[in-house]
Amino acid sequence: MDDLQRNQTTAQQAQSLEEWEVNALRDHELHSSRYFQLLESRRRLPVSLRRQEFLDVYHNSQIILVSGETGSGKTTQIPQFVLFDEWASGKKVACTQPRRLATTAVATRTAAELDVPLGEEVGYSVRFEKKLSRMTRLKYMTDGLLLSEASRDRNFSAYSCIIIDEAHERTLNTDLLMALLKMATSRRSCLKVVIMSATLNVEKIQSYFPGAATFEIPGKVHPVEIHYLSDSTPRYCYCAITVVQHIHENMDDGDILLFLPTSGDIEMVCSILRKRYDEGLKVLPLYSALSRAKQQEIFEDSEYRKCIVATNVAETSITIDGIVYVVGEYLHNFFPWKVGIDKSATDSGLEIRPVYNPRLRMSSVLTCPISKASAKQRAGRAGRTQPGICFRLYTGQTHDTCFIPSAPPGILEGELASQILLLKVMGFESVGTFDFLDPPHPEVYLCGLQDLCAMGYIDDRGTITPKGRIAARLSVHPKWLNAFMEGQKNGCLREMIDLAAISSTQHPIFSRPPPARFAADIAHQRFACPLSDHISQLNALHAYESAMKTNNRLPISQWCFDAFLNRRALSEVVRIRDQLLTSLQQELSYTKEICGFEDAEYDTHIRKTLARSFFYQCALKHPDPFATIYKTVHEGHTAGIHPESALTSERQEWIVYSEFVSSGIPYLQTVTAVDPAWLIDLDFFQDDSLPKTENGDFKQPLVKKSLDKARKKNDSVEEDLISFEELDLNATWYTASNCGAIQIMLSR
Ligand code: ADP
Ligand code: MG
Repeated sequence: MDDLQRNQTTAQQAQSLEEWEVNALRDHELHSSRYFQLLESRRRLPVSLRRQEFLDVYHNSQIILVSGETGSGKTTQIPQFVLFDEWASGKKVACTQPRRLATTAVATRTAAELDVPLGEEVGYSVRFEKKLSRMTRLKYMTDGLLLSEASRDRNFSAYSCIIIDEAHERTLNTDLLMALLKMATSRRSCLKVVIMSATLNVEKIQSYFPGAATFEIPGKVHPVEIHYLSDSTPRYCYCAITVVQHIHENMDDGDILLFLPTSGDIEMVCSILRKRYDEGLKVLPLYSALSRAKQQEIFEDSEYRKCIVATNVAETSITIDGIVYVVGEYLHNFFPWKVGIDKSATDSGLEIRPVYNPRLRMSSVLTCPISKASAKQRAGRAGRTQPGICFRLYTGQTHDTCFIPSAPPGILEGELASQILLLKVMGFESVGTFDFLDPPHPEVYLCGLQDLCAMGYIDDRGTITPKGRIAARLSVHPKWLNAFMEGQKNGCLREMIDLAAISSTQHPIFSRPPPARFAADIAHQRFACPLSDHISQLNALHAYESAMKTNNRLPISQWCFDAFLNRRALSEVVRIRDQLLTSLQQELSYTKEICGFEDAEYDTHIRKTLARSFFYQCALKHPDPFATIYKTVHEGHTAGIHPESALTSERQEWIVYSEFVSSGIPYLQTVTAVDPAWLIDLDFFQDDSLPKTENGDFKQPLVKKSLDKARKKNDSVEEDLISFEELDLNATWYTASNCGAIQIMLSR
């Protein structure tokens, strides 16, 4: 390796190093026999056959756009080519992925291909989990993590090359990274950037990066026969099972890849298929909530035909060899619940997409057409190594008329507040003119800025505040900083950290499998707090933690199964919480906890903290005593409480909510009842700040009335308080019994 000169290596040099008996990356260690097996298969990949051509382009350009069919070796091979070529720089090579599952899977694979222990020369870093060391030279990471590193170092100085993979997915983070890299490359001429994608819109990206070189990997694509349904069906799971059965019983050898939208669907279909074929078919699920060992099973050889039942992670991010048959439905799983799926699946040829509406500050689950690009990718999985067959569980007409060419970029559909904060931290003052590949609508910026201003993270002139700087450094959504600070005042910082961790897991902690939804709801009642879904979540977490400590007889997995709690999500919460506690120790100095379970005001402290930290997400109930409709205080949007909430039958006047979602019907999700008296001193609820009509009247007179009532009540309590203080000063006749009487007066 010592002979390699930065950006002057040849494919032959690297290949002869790879063929040595000794591992060039780890002096004195001999290669294993598995290494040579893998090397042989790697050498056959389309990209390996063009290693020298890639290096020629790489040496002559600072920015390189690489496109090639899925499975051609982009994700696993190109970073290794770059690693050898950049070895002499002494710096790291980063390769970003939009998904956690793919990040860890490809890092594991590449470490095996280089014959090094994962976490040493090759490592990965995803949110709240990393396997890295001082020796790490090739780092696979999620795009979000590289972005947060960029907030500390805009020049990416630790890296000699940054590889952005799966750029066609156009996630919000990928787009932001491309913009930052565009600037960083002009400042650091020695920084190289490789942008890789299966279906890259090369012209568009090339015009964004003028002067960028392109490198195309010519992949051999085998023909794929496509079959459509003659009539649409809402029962896509059963239809999929029938198709798998047909393939397995009547068609030639070859593994099957079946796409389904949710992990619930996947488990259901897997269990039916396993029951039907206890031998002859190896049924394997693939979705992000599975354990790493289970995810890895899909790559293992099997004496039987494999049937992999996966979410869209198998579309481009993960390549499984040996697939000949693809069975694809057309719904994606973006949201944990599935309201409206049946309706959309019947005839319409639509998919479910999460879209953020900045004007309403609402996440919606919209049903809209799937992209043709996605359908093509999925079909392509069948023709990688030989001619294949793709069964599409929708009609040809649906495909032709309802599917859009490609999915819109995430930046046009997401919430921007945390990204704006990140840009502000990095010193970009006028984010509205930031050079994005596809700039969002100005209103999206405006709403993001308003939200940040309400949180106190930027001032009226848009300058970031010291609090905003701390918030941007958090590993959870910046909005939680306010909750941590308020929690610290009220003695429930621990609980706020728990809630932040719960809101950051990939999957909900309460499990509600569709066939047992009713039983799950009953099981969850033991954790339910009638005034707060947030406290219900805390109850479940605390019960889990005490079961972990005390339940020796019952395995924890059984305990979680019986309680309908998602064990993987809960252990993730504990891990995130512990990391947050450590990182927050540097940001906030801890005070002694004054509230604990035994405190009679425990719940009140938590509810008050939530109210005062998420005050901009308050809603007021319709005055009709029987109504269950709420109106958000500032935007004035009407919504019900989500059916999974414990507060649906409570009819509390004021609530604070975590999310405003819509899946046809608008709902406020994860809500807590609050007392308006806790809010009246905040600027946000003063008359000047309440929304007005053009005539200057209050848009929501009921909000004003309720706040005034709370103020009046509060004033009379304060009068009592003053007289109490006077009594206290006049301590001559101050007795315990007087104190008790005053206490009763105050609590009235
Ligand atoms: P691309 O990024 O172009 O889609 P990849 O580099 O992901 O291609 O895949 C190249 C080859 O490596 C494929 O044959 C694939 O099956 C194999 N491969 C990739 N990841 C893994 C893994 N985690 N385990 C086993 N094989 C893998
Ligand atoms: Mg790839």
